[in-house]
Parts: sequence; structure tokens; C-alpha cells
Amino acid sequence: SEEPYPDPDQPPAKKLAGDVGVVVEHYNSRPDVGVVQRLESPIIGLKNFNNWVKSVLITRFAHPVLAASKSKTANGGGSFRGAPRNVGSGKVLDMGCGKGGDMTKWAKARVKELVGVDIAAVSIDQARSRWESLRGPKYQATFAALDCYTKPLTDAFAPELLGVDPYYDIESGTHLTGEPFDVVSMQFCMHYAFETEDKARCMLENVSRYLRRGGVFIGTIPNADLLLEHLDALPPNATDLSFGNSVYGIRFEQRDDRPMFGHKYWFYLKDAVDDVPEYVVRWDNFVQMAAEYDLYPIYKEEFHHVFEEHQEHPEFGPLMVRMKVVDANGESAMDEDQWEAANIYIAFAFEKR
Ligand code: SAM
Repeated sequence: SEEPYPDPDQPPAKKLAGDVGVVVEHYNSRPDVGVVQRLESPIIGLKNFNNWVKSVLITRFAHPVLAASKSKTANGGGSFRGAPRNVGSGKVLDMGCGKGGDMTKWAKARVKELVGVDIAAVSIDQARSRWESLRGPKYQATFAALDCYTKPLTDAFAPELLGVDPYYDIESGTHLTGEPFDVVSMQFCMHYAFETEDKARCMLENVSRYLRRGGVFIGTIPNADLLLEHLDALPPNATDLSFGNSVYGIRFEQRDDRPMFGHKYWFYLKDAVDDVPEYVVRWDNFVQMAAEYDLYPIYKEEFHHVFEEHQEHPEFGPLMVRMKVVDANGESAMDEDQWEAANIYIAFAFEKR
């Protein structure tokens, strides 16, 4: 029995200030539309494509059954370049899980257990409901709201849930006994951490600390090279530093100062993201920092390339039809503007060594 009104003894939920407040407010206030209404989205082709890319990433790098069978092949990795190495129990940390858009994908990947976390509390409730109403194979799941870029995961989860602490220290006695994660997934959310170096480091600490060695960190982020190419292509005297098309819009605030952290732009995506502050993630900077947390890149591709690489694949080709990215005749569900918007993003995988 849920309390229908705010508890009068509790102070009202504090609104977060600054850019983070804008981000949280935006994601908390977006309605969780049902499957039917979703089909009416003007960018349904692009949404389906993004979901297909995430399915490819999850299946290739985070599917315990597939990974186990593939690891038996001669090259140790089946037919893929940078093939799945995950042979663990299938315990996943979905950081920035939002409304739980990947809950079905995790079920299909036959994971055993999922920990979902996001700064937007409303989204976390929706993710939990989505998980509760899953049909078919079920996995254990625990959800919590937390700012993962300023707080350690232990602020929201019991240490036993997070797993063995690889940095076990006898003196501090912080030895944990649970299973570590096999996979950490950050889909379309990691870039918000690049507001400051402290936030990016806190995020990486949360990613790596409870990930087992050999475990995989997968994600999707905007493609910095492409964003900066567009910025450079604007006329030198332009005062409006924006570009895009009918589907997406990006607006930088200035042209010349390009810091590694806090390089801000405003992002709009039709029927998805209103106008939210985001930060450029420079790949080299990210890779260099990730190495300090024992994370090493094994895959990085633009979304267009993910498409080209897998369109003929015996599993991912037909999946594209089932997920309505293309129709049975191979006709794309995306118009040109959606296809261009799709390539704002890159997909990545890192391995913890
Ligand atoms: N991963 C989900 C998906 O693919 O459908 C949601 C992606 S949504 C574009 C970005 C998510 O990042 C939002 O749910 C937002 O609340 C979350 N986010 C932003 N900053 C965060 C932070 N500091 N800690 C945790 N989550 C954050």
C-alpha cells in the first residue's frame, strides 16, 4: 500500500541546482508512454535502431550463454572481432538505466541478476515496474535512485549486493563477500559525467570497483569527433553555434575554448530530449582515464558502422527486421534526417584487466 500523498513529516524532495537539476527534471518529467503510443513516435525508426544497437552490444559483450559457447571455439571468440569474453554468472550493473528500456534485452541475454541505478527517482520507479511486468525468463533485480557521478554505489546498495571488493584492504577491513558484476552498462548517459573531472572519476570508480577482472563495461555516448567537426564547419564569424536537422539540434556556447571536462553543448532530439546540457567526451581522454581504473578498450564504432558490420549477420540481420529497423524488404524505417542523427553516437566496450 503506497502512500498517495507526500509524507507531511518529511521535507519536500529537494530540487537539484545547476545543469544536473535540468537533466534530472527533464528525465523525471518525460512520460513513460506505452508500447502503442511509442509506435506513433515521429522518430520510431531511430528509436528502434538505437535499441537494436544496444541489443547488438549486449549480445556481443554481455551474454553469458553465448559467451560461454563462443569461448570454446578455436580462436576463443567465435565469429566476432572483439568477441564476447563474458563467461561469468551474468550479473549486471545498469548505471543510468532510466525507465528500464533495456529490461527485456537483459532477459533475452539470460542474465541472472541486475542492479539498476539512475539519478531520476521517477524513472527508477518506472524501471522497477517494467521489470516486475516482464514476461518470460526472469532475473533478480534491485533498483535505487542515486547520483552515480558524485556518490559511491555503497550509498544506495548493501555491500553484499555489490560484490567482492577487488581493492580489499586488511587494515580498513572493507572485504565484501557477494559476487562481483560481470557487466556494467551505461547507455546514452555517461557523457553527463564529463561536466567535471571529479564526476568522471567518481563514475569510473563506480563502474570499475565492483566489476570482476575480465568483466566488460559497455556503453553508448555522443561522438566527440563528429560534434567538433560540425562545430569547425560553421562559418568563422557565426554567432549562432548550432547545427542539426529536423530530428536533432546541437548548440555550443563558444567555439574556441575546448576543455577536456565541462565542454558543454545543448542537445535536442525530437520526441526524446528537450534541450538538455551535455558534455563532449573526448575519446582519448576517456581511454587514458579509464586505464587508471583498469579498464581497456576492446570495441569502439560509430552507429553507422555498427549497422554496416552487422546487417548481414545471421542473428543481428533478422533481429533488425523484428525490431522494425528495416522492413522485410530491407527498406529502412528511418528517413535521412533520422539516419544522420543516429550517427551522433558511438558504441564502446572496455574490458577490466
Ligand atoms: N540508459 C537508459 C536507456 O538507454 O534507455 C536511459 C538513457 S537517458 C538518455 C539518460 C539517463 O542518464 C537518464 O535516465 C538520466 O537520469 C541518467 N543520468 C544522468 N545523470 C546521471 C547521474 N549523475 N547518475 C545517474 N544517472 C544519471
